[in-house]
Amino acid sequence: MDIKPIVVVSRCLGFDACRYDGQMLSNSFVSQLAPYVEFRPVCPEVEIGMGTPRAPIKIIMQQGKPHLIQAETGNDFTHSMQEFSEEFFSSLGEVDGFILKNRSPSCGIKDTKIYAKVEKGPAIGKASGLFGKQVLSEYGGLAIEDEGRLNNKKIREHFLIKLFTLARFREVKRMGTLGALMQFQTAHKLLLMAYNQSQMRKMGKLIGSATKMTPMPELFLEYEQGLHCVFSRQARIGSHINALMHAIGYFSKQLSAAEKTFFLDHLEKYRNGQVPLITLVSLIQSWTLRFGSEYLSQQMYLTPYPESLLNFKER
Ligand code: SF4
Repeated sequence: MDIKPIVVVSRCLGFDACRYDGQMLSNSFVSQLAPYVEFRPVCPEVEIGMGTPRAPIKIIMQQGKPHLIQAETGNDFTHSMQEFSEEFFSSLGEVDGFILKNRSPSCGIKDTKIYAKVEKGPAIGKASGLFGKQVLSEYGGLAIEDEGRLNNKKIREHFLIKLFTLARFREVKRMGTLGALMQFQTAHKLLLMAYNQSQMRKMGKLIGSATKMTPMPELFLEYEQGLHCVFSRQARIGSHINALMHAIGYFSKQLSAAEKTFFLDHLEKYRNGQVPLITLVSLIQSWTLRFGSEYLSQQMYLTPYPESLLNFKER
C-alpha cells in the first residue's frame, strides 16, 4: 500500500522566511521526507497576525498559567493563539503527524523555556509552546516530534515507523471493512509484536471476535486506540528479538545449522549493541526472497517506511 502520510510542519523549517527575525531554517530531515509525505506547513505566529519580522515573544507564567507575551510591546497573544489553534484543527482534516520547531514559545513540544516575568531574568523551567501544547492535547496519539529530537536515530526511526503505519491505517479506515482491517493486522503482526506483544494479541482478539454485524466505526475506533497504545513508546530490544525469532521460525526447515548459528550469533550482538537491527532485518528479507515465504513477504516490519529514508545522515 503506497500512501503518503499527511504531516503538519512548522513553516519556518524550509517553507518560508517567517521567523521573528525574518529568517528561514533549512532542515535536512524535512527536505528528505518531502517526496514521501504531504506537508501542511503552518506558522501560528504569522497566522495570528504578528507579521515578519516581529519582536520576539516568550512564555511567562502568570497565576500558574502560561501566557504568550511580547516583551517589547507588552501584548499578550495567549488568547489569539488558542483561538487560532482551535480554528486550525477544525479545518485541518486528516493528519498523521507533526514536525514542529523546537524551543519555540509557539511550536515547541516540550523544551520551550518559560519565565517568571517579562523583564530579563533566568528561565524557571521548560514546557510546551502554546500551539505545541494544543497539538499534544488534540492529537496525542499521532506521530509528533520536534525537529531537534529527530536528529536522534532512535527517535527518528520510531517517528517514521509510527507515521507511516498510522497513514496506512488511515487508508484502511477509509475502506472501512472488516476484511481490510484483518489484512492490516496480518501485515503488521511482526511490527506490532516488536513493539508490544500483549497489545498485539488484544488487537488480534478484537478483530477475531468481530463479525459482519459488528458496527465498524466502533471497531475501528477501538483498534485505533490500540494502535496508539502500541506506538506510545519506542520498541525495546527484547521485543525486536522476539519478533526476529518468530520470523526465523518460518525458515527452520530450510536453513542450515551454520546459517541458524550465524543468525543467533548476530542476534546476541544486536542485544549487546554491536550490530544494528537492520543487519538482522536484512537477513530475514534475503531469506524471505530465497525461500519465498508469503507471510513474511507481506510483513511491514521488514520495510515499515521507504528504504531511502534509512540513509539519513545525522547532523
Ligand atoms: S517556530 Fe512556529 S511560530 Fe515560530 S516561526 Fe517557526 S512556524 Fe512560525
